[in-house]
Amino acid sequence: MIDRFGRSISYLRISVTDLCNLRCRYCMPEEGICKKEHQQMLSEEEMVTAVQAAASLGISKVRITGGEPLIKNNIVSICRNISEIEGIQEVCVTTNGLLLPELAGPLVEAGVQRVNLSLDTLDPEKFGYITRRGSLEQFWKGFNAALEAGFRKIKLNTVLIGGFNDTEIRELSELTLKYPVDVRFIELMPMAGSREFGAEAFIPYSRVLEEMKEAEPVPYDHSVAKLYRLPGAKGNIGLISPVSAHFCGDCNRIRLTADGKIKPCLHSSDEYSLKGLSLEGMREVLEKAILAKPGWHGELDAVHRSRAGRFMNQIGG
Ligand code: SAM
Ligand code: SF4
Repeated sequence: MIDRFGRSISYLRISVTDLCNLRCRYCMPEEGICKKEHQQMLSEEEMVTAVQAAASLGISKVRITGGEPLIKNNIVSICRNISEIEGIQEVCVTTNGLLLPELAGPLVEAGVQRVNLSLDTLDPEKFGYITRRGSLEQFWKGFNAALEAGFRKIKLNTVLIGGFNDTEIRELSELTLKYPVDVRFIELMPMAGSREFGAEAFIPYSRVLEEMKEAEPVPYDHSVAKLYRLPGAKGNIGLISPVSAHFCGDCNRIRLTADGKIKPCLHSSDEYSLKGLSLEGMREVLEKAILAKPGWHGELDAVHRSRAGRFMNQIGG
């Protein structure tokens, strides 16, 4: 479906749970979030119906995210059912990777083609600090399981944080020399969870290019990332700049939260509920939400915080 600004909306991101086995400092509070009643959350059946309704409006790509999607015990079945929906050409998962040793194979079998793993540092102590409870060793086990499982594409997502991992830009980028993966640096977004970070943490993607002068631009591939490649690399370096150079004009996505709210824009508190609706009802609400999608997310920086009204684990990134 085409929105008011001529953008073709073809990508749905579903946060299948807002719970997580980590507590990344920029994402969610240390104490977790108030667990909602089971009846308030979308059931697997409702998620599948929502995707059927979205597919009938032209959605062809679905990303399963969270919270941590892999802690959901029916995650494989959710992915399989969504990948079998007519019109859905691509199902991808974004995960912290910790549970991939058990789940990478079943996810590939269920039709998941691409996986994005979050990795902010190569230092075990810093990994423990930023995730408040994760182990880098466990991450690498998950990463290796993903490499072996046969996903069509693997990407590593790094949130770029001044004073935390800007000293590791080279080491992280050079993972593309060793592995057939893309490494994507994402600017820190001023969400509710990132309040503890001062202005110095919000650094622009251009810092990566200053550090990696030998990286050469790769032609635009319709993703939100600006792509570069190191000589001899097996994967690309991607730069995602929601803060310093927004890409709202090309935004083709809508989001569905675990409690059934469609968010036409990540940084707006406007939400449209699908909970309890029939396929036809969901379709109508989706149309309304797509037509209400704003042209841009408004000012966003260390001073102008996101107006999302939720923590990132409740939206899905
Ligand atoms: N738990 C999974 C994971 O970490 O990959 C999926 C959910 S997580 C909310 C999705 C993505 O959002 C992750 O790559 C995470 O780094 C990113 N994210 C969370 N908070 C962010 C923030 N304030 N700024 C930029 N990216 C953020
Ligand atoms: Fe959990 Fe992902 Fe948020 Fe980290 S970024 S707390 S892994 S949802």
